[in-house]
Amino acid sequence: MSYEDKSLTCQDCGRAFVFTATQQSYLASKGLTKEPRRGPTCRDMQAAAPAAPVTAAPKLVGIEPVQRSAEGARAKDRRAR
Ligand SMILES: [Zn+2]
Repeated sequence: MSYEDKSLTCQDCGRAFVFTATQQSYLASKGLTKEPRRGPTCRDMQAAAPAAPVTAAPKLVGIEPVQRSAEGARAKDRRAR
């Protein structure tokens, strides 16, 4: 079976891309006969970005410990005497 380069339209961006004969024969050898819906650019983008983006958890701002300042005041008192 011989393959020919096909011009397809990407469903994501609407741009035309070439579904090459090499790709067709490669996919056919894997038992895949469906034509790709997306161009290589959008396919790469989809592979790079996970379906559910991980949102960064807000960083908790550390509260200044009150004890430290109290101890410091006590130490000052001792030194003063
Ligand atoms: Zn696209």
